[in-house]
Amino acid sequence: MFAVLLIIMVSGCANEKTWTSGSASVSAKGEKADAALFAMDTYMSLTVYSDDAYDLAINACERIFELEKLFDPDLPESEVSRLNVSGEFTVGRELKEQIETAALVKERSEGAFDLTVGALVELWGFGDVPKVPSNEDIHKAISLCTDIAIDGSAVSLPEGTKINLGASAKGYTSNELSEFFKSAGVKSALVSLGGNVQVVGTKPDGNLWRVAVQDPRNENAGLGVLSIKDCAVVTSGDYQRYFIEEGVRYCHILDPRTGMSVNNGVCAVTVMCDNGLMADCLSTAMMVLGKEKALEYWETWGGYEMLIVTSDNTVTMTPGFAASFEPDENLEYSVEIFNEE
Ligand code: AMP
Ligand code: MG
Repeated sequence: MFAVLLIIMVSGCANEKTWTSGSASVSAKGEKADAALFAMDTYMSLTVYSDDAYDLAINACERIFELEKLFDPDLPESEVSRLNVSGEFTVGRELKEQIETAALVKERSEGAFDLTVGALVELWGFGDVPKVPSNEDIHKAISLCTDIAIDGSAVSLPEGTKINLGASAKGYTSNELSEFFKSAGVKSALVSLGGNVQVVGTKPDGNLWRVAVQDPRNENAGLGVLSIKDCAVVTSGDYQRYFIEEGVRYCHILDPRTGMSVNNGVCAVTVMCDNGLMADCLSTAMMVLGKEKALEYWETWGGYEMLIVTSDNTVTMTPGFAASFEPDENLEYSVEIFNEE
């Protein structure tokens, strides 16, 4: 037994390369590299196929840690902290892109999505000990959900306003990594950052990537599987971070217009879109809008497909989503396809 194990280990070492740094580890064999790491408060994994897979996976992990240092609101020297503390900062392209995409989604969603929820998020204490705030405190915090002024790369915030990138940073990151892989000639890669998945190309055998969509009310069950290539799939849900007080569930997604935790009958939204940053902003925005307004948004602006799970045990999909989705055979939800001809 010992001899067999030894042979396996030695033969494994012969053509397998490994690298570790902090929470990240990369292992590569032949043209495939896998990476696992913890960053941005999330377990992440990457798989990349290429002649340079090992180096690309290491570069990708290092880039994730660099981006984390820009976006972390708890790190005093991050760009976000410096902007929040001084109210004025010349931001790099990473923050600028998020602020610009978020501004578009904010306008289109009539304020349902808003990066200036920073003070409101702190008030609810989701990063720490969550609690339902007083009406007075909520009122103050929503007055700080306001507009971000941007002139070139110079960003300024009104006094007391803070931005929070919880709804966009992972999407930005998956998108940047996918672009990085593509520019290095990669034809096949999978980036999975918690609820944010983004794929480059197809699987190496030419088949579509298969991404499971989780049941928001049963962590051991899936709603079904999406088959995709070259796109991002991002899920936001009331099950990802929440607390229950006096029998009411309060989730980490907040409505900047009322200051309340979202409770509109939508349990989860999965967005499929070719841009990971847009997908991330949209999945959060759709949660806040609620089913009817989310479908109106989709009809008006398009550019993405989605699946909405509501508390009446219904799964509603846009036609483009349904075309790529195979529902689980034991699915205990009614399934509706919106606007099916
Ligand atoms: P996600 O998991 O992508 O839906 O993002 C949720 C996170 O985004 C929360 O934990 C907050 O940090 C932040 N957030 C909550 N509500 C909003 C909102 N209405 N607009 C933008 N960001 C939000
Ligand atoms: Mg999001």
